[in-house]
Amino acid sequence: MNPIELSFEFFPPKTQEGVEKLRATRAQLVPLKPKFVSVTFGAGGSTQQGTLDTVLDIAKDGIEAAPHLSCIGSSKESLRAILNRYRESGIRHIVALRGDLPSGMGEVGELRYASELVSFIRNETGDWFRIEVAAYPEYHPQSRSPRQDMENFARKVKAGANSAITQYFFNADAYFRFVDDVRKLGVDVPIVPGIMPITNFSQLTRFSEMCGAEIPRWVARRLESFGDDREAIRAFGLDVVTDLCRRLVDAGVPGLHFYTLNAATASKAICERLGL
Ligand code: FAD
Repeated sequence: MNPIELSFEFFPPKTQEGVEKLRATRAQLVPLKPKFVSVTFGAGGSTQQGTLDTVLDIAKDGIEAAPHLSCIGSSKESLRAILNRYRESGIRHIVALRGDLPSGMGEVGELRYASELVSFIRNETGDWFRIEVAAYPEYHPQSRSPRQDMENFARKVKAGANSAITQYFFNADAYFRFVDDVRKLGVDVPIVPGIMPITNFSQLTRFSEMCGAEIPRWVARRLESFGDDREAIRAFGLDVVTDLCRRLVDAGVPGLHFYTLNAATASKAICERLGL
Protein backbone atom coordinates (compact mmCIF):
# COMPACT_ATOMS: atom_id res chain seq x y z
CA MET A 1 0.00 0.00 0.00
CA ASN A 2 1.22 3.45 -0.90
CA PRO A 3 1.10 5.42 2.38
CA ILE A 4 1.21 8.80 0.62
CA GLU A 5 -2.00 9.71 -1.16
CA LEU A 6 -1.34 11.40 -4.48
CA SER A 7 -3.71 13.76 -6.28
CA PHE A 8 -3.33 15.71 -9.50
CA GLU A 9 -4.93 18.99 -10.51
CA PHE A 10 -6.00 19.81 -14.06
CA PHE A 11 -7.69 22.74 -15.74
CA PRO A 12 -10.56 22.30 -18.22
CA PRO A 13 -9.18 22.33 -21.77
CA LYS A 14 -10.64 24.91 -24.16
CA THR A 15 -10.07 23.07 -27.46
CA GLN A 16 -10.45 19.52 -28.77
CA GLU A 17 -6.66 19.35 -29.03
CA GLY A 18 -6.46 20.30 -25.35
CA VAL A 19 -8.99 17.57 -24.49
CA GLU A 20 -6.82 14.97 -26.25
CA LYS A 21 -3.69 16.28 -24.58
CA LEU A 22 -5.30 16.02 -21.16
CA ARG A 23 -6.40 12.43 -21.89
CA ALA A 24 -2.79 11.58 -22.76
CA THR A 25 -1.58 13.28 -19.56
CA ARG A 26 -4.09 11.32 -17.51
CA ALA A 27 -3.03 8.06 -19.11
CA GLN A 28 0.52 8.74 -17.92
CA LEU A 29 -0.52 9.67 -14.39
CA VAL A 30 -3.14 6.98 -13.71
CA PRO A 31 -0.51 4.24 -13.13
CA LEU A 32 0.62 6.29 -10.10
CA LYS A 33 -2.81 5.41 -8.61
CA PRO A 34 -3.93 8.88 -7.51
CA LYS A 35 -6.56 8.98 -4.77
CA PHE A 36 -8.38 11.57 -6.84
CA VAL A 37 -7.82 14.23 -9.45
CA SER A 38 -9.33 17.72 -9.34
CA VAL A 39 -10.43 20.15 -12.03
CA THR A 40 -10.25 23.92 -11.62
CA PHE A 41 -13.18 26.29 -12.07
CA GLY A 42 -13.10 29.84 -13.38
CA ALA A 43 -14.85 32.47 -11.29
CA GLY A 44 -17.29 34.46 -13.38
CA GLY A 45 -18.41 31.60 -15.58
CA SER A 46 -15.48 31.23 -17.99
CA THR A 47 -14.92 27.50 -17.52
CA GLN A 48 -17.93 26.28 -15.59
CA GLN A 49 -19.26 23.92 -18.26
CA GLY A 50 -15.68 22.89 -19.01
CA THR A 51 -15.18 21.84 -15.39
CA LEU A 52 -18.25 19.58 -15.44
CA ASP A 53 -17.41 18.11 -18.86
CA THR A 54 -13.82 17.38 -17.80
CA VAL A 55 -14.87 15.82 -14.50
CA LEU A 56 -17.38 13.57 -16.27
CA ASP A 57 -14.81 12.55 -18.88
CA ILE A 58 -12.40 11.56 -16.10
CA ALA A 59 -15.06 9.77 -14.04
CA LYS A 60 -15.88 7.58 -17.07
CA ASP A 61 -12.46 5.96 -16.57
CA GLY A 62 -13.37 5.07 -12.99
CA ILE A 63 -11.14 7.74 -11.44
CA GLU A 64 -12.45 9.88 -8.62
CA ALA A 65 -12.69 13.42 -9.95
CA ALA A 66 -13.36 16.47 -7.77
CA PRO A 67 -14.55 19.68 -9.39
CA HIS A 68 -13.42 22.98 -7.88
CA LEU A 69 -16.24 25.40 -7.14
CA SER A 70 -15.77 29.08 -6.35
CA CYS A 71 -18.47 31.35 -4.95
CA ILE A 72 -17.27 34.85 -5.81
CA GLY A 73 -19.49 36.58 -8.34
CA SER A 74 -22.18 33.87 -8.07
CA SER A 75 -25.70 33.81 -6.72
CA LYS A 76 -26.87 31.12 -4.33
CA GLU A 77 -29.29 29.97 -6.99
CA SER A 78 -26.56 29.37 -9.56
CA LEU A 79 -24.37 27.58 -6.99
CA ARG A 80 -27.33 25.40 -6.02
CA ALA A 81 -27.88 24.52 -9.68
CA ILE A 82 -24.22 23.51 -10.09
CA LEU A 83 -24.28 21.42 -6.90
CA ASN A 84 -27.42 19.67 -8.13
CA ARG A 85 -25.80 18.84 -11.47
CA TYR A 86 -22.81 17.36 -9.67
CA ARG A 87 -25.07 15.32 -7.42
CA GLU A 88 -27.10 14.05 -10.36
CA SER A 89 -23.83 13.03 -12.02
CA GLY A 90 -22.77 11.04 -8.95
CA ILE A 91 -19.91 13.35 -8.00
CA ARG A 92 -19.19 13.24 -4.27
CA HIS A 93 -15.98 15.21 -3.84
CA ILE A 94 -15.55 18.97 -4.29
CA VAL A 95 -12.90 21.67 -3.72
CA ALA A 96 -14.66 24.75 -2.26
CA LEU A 97 -13.06 28.14 -2.86
CA ARG A 98 -13.82 31.80 -2.80
CA GLY A 99 -12.08 32.35 -6.13
CA ASP A 100 -10.86 35.61 -7.62
CA LEU A 101 -12.98 37.86 -9.78
CA PRO A 102 -11.54 38.51 -13.23
CA SER A 103 -10.46 42.18 -13.43
CA GLY A 104 -13.31 44.43 -14.48
CA MET A 105 -15.99 42.20 -12.94
CA GLY A 106 -17.31 44.02 -9.92
CA GLU A 107 -20.10 41.93 -8.38
CA VAL A 108 -18.97 39.95 -5.35
CA GLY A 109 -22.04 37.73 -5.25
CA GLU A 110 -24.03 36.42 -2.32
CA LEU A 111 -21.23 34.50 -0.58
CA ARG A 112 -18.08 36.45 0.25
CA TYR A 113 -15.73 33.82 1.62
CA ALA A 114 -14.98 30.15 1.16
CA SER A 115 -16.21 29.50 4.73
CA GLU A 116 -19.65 30.72 3.63
CA LEU A 117 -19.53 28.44 0.60
CA VAL A 118 -18.64 25.44 2.77
CA SER A 119 -21.59 26.22 5.09
CA PHE A 120 -23.85 26.65 2.05
CA ILE A 121 -22.79 23.28 0.59
CA ARG A 122 -23.36 21.54 3.94
CA ASN A 123 -26.78 23.19 4.37
CA GLU A 124 -27.86 22.31 0.85
CA THR A 125 -26.42 18.84 0.49
CA GLY A 126 -25.63 17.51 3.99
CA ASP A 127 -22.82 14.97 3.91
CA TRP A 128 -23.09 14.16 0.21
CA PHE A 129 -19.79 15.82 -0.68
CA ARG A 130 -16.32 15.36 0.70
CA ILE A 131 -15.14 18.99 0.84
CA GLU A 132 -11.57 20.23 0.38
CA VAL A 133 -10.56 23.83 1.09
CA ALA A 134 -7.45 25.89 0.31
CA ALA A 135 -4.69 26.65 2.83
CA TYR A 136 -1.84 29.18 2.57
CA PRO A 137 1.39 28.32 4.43
CA GLU A 138 2.85 31.68 3.29
CA TYR A 139 -0.53 33.37 3.92
CA HIS A 140 -3.11 34.57 1.46
CA PRO A 141 -1.96 37.76 -0.32
CA GLN A 142 -5.08 39.68 0.77
CA SER A 143 -4.99 38.64 4.41
CA ARG A 144 -4.62 41.37 7.01
CA SER A 145 -2.24 39.35 9.16
CA PRO A 146 -0.94 35.78 9.38
CA ARG A 147 -2.96 35.30 12.56
CA GLN A 148 -6.22 36.40 10.95
CA ASP A 149 -5.52 34.30 7.88
CA MET A 150 -5.04 31.20 10.04
CA GLU A 151 -8.21 32.00 11.99
CA ASN A 152 -10.09 32.39 8.71
CA PHE A 153 -8.68 29.06 7.58
CA ALA A 154 -9.82 27.43 10.85
CA ARG A 155 -13.29 28.93 10.37
CA LYS A 156 -13.58 27.39 6.94
CA VAL A 157 -12.58 23.97 8.27
CA LYS A 158 -15.05 24.25 11.14
CA ALA A 159 -17.79 25.11 8.64
CA GLY A 160 -17.50 21.50 7.45
CA ALA A 161 -14.39 20.85 5.34
CA ASN A 162 -12.93 17.35 5.47
CA SER A 163 -9.46 18.19 4.27
CA ALA A 164 -7.26 21.00 2.91
CA ILE A 165 -4.84 21.47 0.02
CA THR A 166 -2.20 24.17 0.27
CA GLN A 167 -1.11 26.80 -2.15
CA TYR A 168 2.26 25.74 -3.55
CA PHE A 169 5.38 26.73 -1.66
CA PHE A 170 9.10 26.07 -1.86
CA ASN A 171 9.83 26.75 1.83
CA ALA A 172 9.03 23.52 3.69
CA ASP A 173 9.40 25.27 7.05
CA ALA A 174 6.51 27.59 6.19
CA TYR A 175 4.30 24.53 5.78
CA PHE A 176 5.48 22.84 8.98
CA ARG A 177 4.97 26.03 10.99
CA PHE A 178 1.54 26.64 9.46
CA VAL A 179 0.37 23.11 10.29
CA ASP A 180 1.63 23.38 13.89
CA ASP A 181 -0.04 26.75 14.37
CA VAL A 182 -3.44 25.83 12.93
CA ARG A 183 -3.49 22.61 14.97
CA LYS A 184 -3.39 24.91 18.01
CA LEU A 185 -6.51 26.62 16.63
CA GLY A 186 -8.31 23.28 16.67
CA VAL A 187 -7.86 22.30 13.00
CA ASP A 188 -7.56 18.51 12.90
CA VAL A 189 -8.17 17.71 9.20
CA PRO A 190 -5.38 16.54 6.85
CA ILE A 191 -3.48 19.45 5.23
CA VAL A 192 -2.01 18.19 1.97
CA PRO A 193 0.87 20.17 0.46
CA GLY A 194 0.24 21.54 -3.04
CA ILE A 195 3.29 20.95 -5.22
CA MET A 196 4.21 23.05 -8.24
CA PRO A 197 6.79 21.36 -10.48
CA ILE A 198 9.27 23.88 -11.93
CA THR A 199 9.44 23.77 -15.71
CA ASN A 200 9.19 27.39 -16.83
CA PHE A 201 10.74 30.26 -14.88
CA SER A 202 8.82 33.22 -16.34
CA GLN A 203 5.48 31.44 -15.86
CA LEU A 204 6.41 30.46 -12.31
CA THR A 205 7.40 34.05 -11.50
CA ARG A 206 4.08 35.34 -12.83
CA PHE A 207 2.03 32.78 -10.88
CA SER A 208 4.03 33.35 -7.70
CA GLU A 209 3.52 37.11 -7.82
CA MET A 210 -0.24 36.59 -8.15
CA CYS A 211 -0.68 33.98 -5.44
CA GLY A 212 1.92 35.19 -2.95
CA ALA A 213 4.18 32.11 -3.02
CA GLU A 214 7.84 32.92 -2.49
CA ILE A 215 10.48 31.61 -4.87
CA PRO A 216 13.58 31.48 -2.62
CA ARG A 217 16.31 33.81 -3.82
CA TRP A 218 18.81 31.03 -4.48
CA VAL A 219 16.27 29.15 -6.60
CA ALA A 220 15.28 32.27 -8.56
CA ARG A 221 18.93 33.22 -9.17
CA ARG A 222 19.81 29.78 -10.45
CA LEU A 223 16.72 29.55 -12.68
CA GLU A 224 17.38 33.01 -14.05
CA SER A 225 20.97 32.09 -14.84
CA PHE A 226 19.81 29.33 -17.20
CA GLY A 227 18.23 31.89 -19.57
CA ASP A 228 16.46 30.06 -22.42
CA ASP A 229 18.01 26.69 -21.60
CA ARG A 230 14.77 24.87 -20.86
CA GLU A 231 16.49 21.56 -20.24
CA ALA A 232 18.67 23.09 -17.51
CA ILE A 233 15.61 24.73 -15.93
CA ARG A 234 13.74 21.42 -15.94
CA ALA A 235 16.66 19.44 -14.52
CA PHE A 236 17.32 21.92 -11.70
CA GLY A 237 13.58 22.32 -11.04
CA LEU A 238 13.21 18.56 -10.76
CA ASP A 239 16.02 18.36 -8.18
CA VAL A 240 14.64 21.24 -6.10
CA VAL A 241 11.02 20.07 -6.05
CA THR A 242 11.95 16.41 -5.48
CA ASP A 243 14.06 17.46 -2.47
CA LEU A 244 11.14 19.51 -1.14
CA CYS A 245 8.75 16.55 -1.55
CA ARG A 246 11.23 14.19 0.09
CA ARG A 247 11.40 16.42 3.16
CA LEU A 248 7.61 16.58 3.28
CA VAL A 249 7.20 12.83 2.86
CA ASP A 250 9.85 12.10 5.49
CA ALA A 251 7.97 14.42 7.87
CA GLY A 252 4.83 12.32 7.39
CA VAL A 253 2.56 14.49 5.24
CA PRO A 254 -0.76 12.78 4.40
CA GLY A 255 -0.41 13.29 0.66
CA LEU A 256 0.96 15.37 -2.19
CA HIS A 257 -1.29 17.34 -4.56
CA PHE A 258 0.39 18.22 -7.86
CA TYR A 259 -0.47 21.33 -9.87
CA THR A 260 0.14 19.60 -13.19
CA LEU A 261 -0.90 22.42 -15.58
CA ASN A 262 -2.20 19.49 -17.68
CA ALA A 263 1.28 18.07 -18.27
CA ALA A 264 2.44 14.75 -16.82
CA THR A 265 6.21 14.63 -17.26
CA ALA A 266 7.44 16.68 -14.30
CA SER A 267 4.91 15.40 -11.72
CA LYS A 268 5.50 11.83 -12.83
CA ALA A 269 9.28 12.19 -12.66
CA ILE A 270 9.09 13.57 -9.11
CA CYS A 271 6.85 10.70 -7.94
CA GLU A 272 9.11 8.14 -9.58
CA ARG A 273 12.23 9.61 -8.01
CA LEU A 274 10.49 9.46 -4.63
CA GLY A 275 9.49 5.86 -5.26
CA LEU A 276 5.79 6.68 -4.85
P1 FAD B 1 -11.02 32.38 1.49
O1 FAD B 1 -10.72 31.22 2.36
O2 FAD B 1 -12.40 32.93 1.51
O3 FAD B 1 -9.97 33.53 1.87
C1 FAD B 1 -9.80 34.65 1.03
C2 FAD B 1 -9.26 35.83 1.83
O4 FAD B 1 -10.28 36.32 2.69
C3 FAD B 1 -8.09 35.48 2.75
O5 FAD B 1 -7.22 36.58 2.79
C4 FAD B 1 -8.74 35.27 4.10
O6 FAD B 1 -7.86 35.51 5.18
C5 FAD B 1 -9.86 36.30 4.04
N1 FAD B 1 -11.04 35.93 4.83
C6 FAD B 1 -11.64 34.72 4.87
N2 FAD B 1 -12.72 34.77 5.67
C7 FAD B 1 -12.80 36.04 6.15
C8 FAD B 1 -13.70 36.72 7.01
N3 FAD B 1 -14.75 36.10 7.57
N4 FAD B 1 -13.47 38.05 7.26
C9 FAD B 1 -12.41 38.69 6.71
N5 FAD B 1 -11.53 38.09 5.88
C10 FAD B 1 -11.73 36.80 5.61
N6 FAD B 1 -9.20 29.89 -7.93
C11 FAD B 1 -10.13 29.76 -8.90
O7 FAD B 1 -10.67 30.76 -9.37
N7 FAD B 1 -10.47 28.54 -9.40
C12 FAD B 1 -9.93 27.40 -8.91
O8 FAD B 1 -10.26 26.29 -9.38
C13 FAD B 1 -8.96 27.49 -7.86
N8 FAD B 1 -8.41 26.39 -7.31
C14 FAD B 1 -7.54 26.53 -6.23
C15 FAD B 1 -7.06 25.36 -5.61
C16 FAD B 1 -6.21 25.46 -4.52
C17 FAD B 1 -5.72 24.19 -3.85
C18 FAD B 1 -5.77 26.73 -4.06
C19 FAD B 1 -4.81 26.85 -2.91
C20 FAD B 1 -6.25 27.88 -4.67
C21 FAD B 1 -7.14 27.79 -5.76
N9 FAD B 1 -7.68 28.93 -6.37
C22 FAD B 1 -8.61 28.79 -7.39
C23 FAD B 1 -7.28 30.27 -5.94
C24 FAD B 1 -8.23 30.83 -4.87
O9 FAD B 1 -9.51 30.98 -5.40
C25 FAD B 1 -7.65 32.19 -4.45
O10 FAD B 1 -6.47 32.03 -3.73
C26 FAD B 1 -8.64 33.11 -3.73
O11 FAD B 1 -8.04 34.41 -3.67
C27 FAD B 1 -8.95 32.71 -2.30
O12 FAD B 1 -9.75 31.62 -2.24
P2 FAD B 1 -10.00 30.88 -0.83
O13 FAD B 1 -10.98 29.82 -1.08
O14 FAD B 1 -8.72 30.52 -0.21
O15 FAD B 1 -10.66 32.10 -0.02
